[in-house]
Amino acid sequence: MSVPSGYEAVIGLEIHVQLSTQTKMFCGCALSFGDQPNVHTCPVCLAHPGTLPVVNERAVRYALQIALALGCEVAPRSIFHRKNYFYPDSPKGYQISQYDIPLAANGSLAGVRIHRVHLEEDAAKMVHLGESGRIHGSAASLVDFNRGGTPLVEIVTEPDLHDPGEARQWAQLLRTTVEQLGVSDVNMEEGSLRCDANVSIRPPGAEELGTKTELKNMNSFRFLERGIAAELERQASVLEAGGEVAQETFHFDPRTGSLTPLRSKEYAHDYRYLPEPDLVPLAPTEQMLREAREALPELPDQRRRRYEAEFGVPEVTARQLAFDAELGTYFEGALEAGDGVEPSVIANWVTGDLAAARRHFGADGREVAPAHLVAVARMVVEKRITHASGREVLDALVDPGSSIGDPEEVVESRQLAAVSDSSELEAIVERAIEAEPAAAEKVRSGNPKAIGPIVGAVMRETKGRADGGEVTRLIREKLGAA
Ligand code: ADP
Ligand code: ZN
Ligand code: MG
Repeated sequence: MSVPSGYEAVIGLEIHVQLSTQTKMFCGCALSFGDQPNVHTCPVCLAHPGTLPVVNERAVRYALQIALALGCEVAPRSIFHRKNYFYPDSPKGYQISQYDIPLAANGSLAGVRIHRVHLEEDAAKMVHLGESGRIHGSAASLVDFNRGGTPLVEIVTEPDLHDPGEARQWAQLLRTTVEQLGVSDVNMEEGSLRCDANVSIRPPGAEELGTKTELKNMNSFRFLERGIAAELERQASVLEAGGEVAQETFHFDPRTGSLTPLRSKEYAHDYRYLPEPDLVPLAPTEQMLREAREALPELPDQRRRRYEAEFGVPEVTARQLAFDAELGTYFEGALEAGDGVEPSVIANWVTGDLAAARRHFGADGREVAPAHLVAVARMVVEKRITHASGREVLDALVDPGSSIGDPEEVVESRQLAAVSDSSELEAIVERAIEAEPAAAEKVRSGNPKAIGPIVGAVMRETKGRADGGEVTRLIREKLGAA
């Protein structure tokens, strides 16, 4: 999926992260997901008259960690505003958010600039009943206020992304980064991480940005990528037809690939932002900032750089390992067990054949201990088994239908030990040459590519237990084509 030809894509993301605090942003109600509707409510989050919001200190600390992890400058005093709108998911008639002075700004993550990071509260959840739930013949909706008032951090990037795949990768990196901080569940399906994309196109090299449209609430990274790609195509075809892109908001339906307009875009003045009179400015103390800084773990992008610099792992592989917290931890476990095996070799096994075996067996697959992975890699490095056999050993270790949990045992029971005895291999090669006289003749008369059927015959007889390079060398030698 890429960018329509003849155009440059410009993409900016807005990401909402639900913080995993115990309680809501401005009251003491517990956060919950999946509980009975409307059991976590109180006069504050239901907006009863005369109630006052109180800022959740933990939410501020979490937001500071996110801001610092994204390299932002934290405002000495940021201001809460009321963002007015009228909809049943907001009992107050406004959302408390931040407007002209956000918590933090001017950061960057892996080359994408962060415009701002601010704190706000989530809206309640609407449940639209549809055809089955009509009341007196009219469409009806229910409201669950459990979610209303959940602390949210909104992260807004500058329009620095230029490709749907790049946007997806970057959003995944952001998610892993927040995940490492331990301040959110970052679960897209449950909505604790939500991603909107702003999309425009322009002629390559143009100074001015094109008119942007917004794609709302894509609930998986795959859909984010596909939605952006579909919207780029749509904009290109509007321009090709001589039209102009209108500033609109769309919903992307991943099932049909279609884009449905939601509403024309609101402007800031539609929200009549007002400073929240019931809250003082947010002024993090030096101590809070220091504690937030000290709580930062090694972040994925730092990890990627360390894997490249310290272990010589190629960038693409380093990215795969470092941007997936689980995989990175596994890799480091394997390194500890990996005495004598090159880290970049281990990295390849982790991201390549082990990942493939995992995908193949899915959720039922068995875990492979890092030490066992290293044992397989070492057998291949030492040419005790071929690479293909190494892959087979990993498959057997992951296979839920197999009971063998030790690589040596797999090699033994499946007789995977490489044919290392050179006289044995030579005899097999000679037989293969006899069996494929036509190919042999071609190789002899100077066509090295014709060697395929002979190699194939050797591999069939050895069941893949012969080293491919060694087999080729032997065949050429015997045919005088070395
Ligand atoms: P709005 O006022 O419409 O909310 P902002 O300037 O706040 O617009 O930007 C919102 C998001 O849209 C940001 O992520 C920003 O990077 C992105 N954005 C702004 N202009 C464009 C554009 N022309 N094309 C793509 N993304 C854009
Ligand atoms: Zn409450
Ligand atoms: Mg905006």
